[in-house]
Amino acid sequence: MRFSPLIKDILNKALDGAILTRQEILHMLGIRLPSLEAGLVMASADFFTREACGGRAEVHAQVGLNCSPCPNNCLFCSFAASNQVFQREEEMAVEEAVLRAQKVEAEGANAIFLMATGDYPFGKFIETAREVRVRLQPDTVMVANTGDFGLKEGKRLKEAGFTGIYHAIRMGEGKDTKISPETRKKTIEAAKESGLFIGTCVEPVGPEHSLDEIAEKILITREIQPCYSGAARRITIPHSPLEKYGMISEYRMAFLVAVVRLAMGRELIGNCTHEPNLLGAASGANLFWAEAGANPRDTEAETSRGRGWNVKSCIRLFREADYEMRKGPSVIYSKNHRKT
Ligand code: SF4
Repeated sequence: MRFSPLIKDILNKALDGAILTRQEILHMLGIRLPSLEAGLVMASADFFTREACGGRAEVHAQVGLNCSPCPNNCLFCSFAASNQVFQREEEMAVEEAVLRAQKVEAEGANAIFLMATGDYPFGKFIETAREVRVRLQPDTVMVANTGDFGLKEGKRLKEAGFTGIYHAIRMGEGKDTKISPETRKKTIEAAKESGLFIGTCVEPVGPEHSLDEIAEKILITREIQPCYSGAARRITIPHSPLEKYGMISEYRMAFLVAVVRLAMGRELIGNCTHEPNLLGAASGANLFWAEAGANPRDTEAETSRGRGWNVKSCIRLFREADYEMRKGPSVIYSKNHRKT
């Protein structure tokens, strides 16, 4: 068994700092798993990430502010009204959100995400964010994970003290969700114009997604010019219409993390995966999320009692992968998100 000249050419091209074409990305996505070539892709991505971030990983912690039946009905989400997981609205008190944020800050999270469902009132989100902001250290990085918005709202997020947002054009967007890819793109443009950094990811990937769609979404994340990309699998929501497709393995997810890493160019510091796993950390991921409160992949309203990882366990996984941990505010969500 020998490596094909084509995969060697693609990886050498990426190592030389060149940007890979759609065909080259598609070729990598088509590699059989498990195989020597898949291992070579994963090892190359691991090398890229460690080199770009100086061997330092980050943990970001998300506080989910509410769980309620959301009319946007993204089929992969436990908040989707049509999935009937959460039948009534529940909201975290502002003081509780502050305490959760302070807790993860003290535990060493490099950035704190506030997340709300797509239909959560924007004004309320800003009010909570302001209160959290003043009760955190001034240099703690805050990131908004909320529904779509325009330029006015983007500026308000910036004024409220957010450094960036998390936003993605999801797998099956517009088909498995009631949100069009254009709406997502407009939000990202508004955020950029407001001076916010964009974190994104190729997600949520299921076994039914074609290589063409995965390649398309990888290219979209690259065009966004985010502060990080990555890959995450779909977690099955019981009785949802997508349950019949099942889930991809952590191994396949780690392979996708590696392909995304190589497609994003050599200088980008951050590459994420979710949920946290050791294979991902050895295949090019240097960013995990801890979660508290509501979580769109969980059927438990308080995810720290369900699927959610805490900061300490994320750090432990990275240490098992021989990463050092970045201390203090996130570098990924900063103007230094590319290695210079
Ligand atoms: S992913 Fe967001 S917009 Fe879609 S159903 Fe869930 S909360 Fe609503």
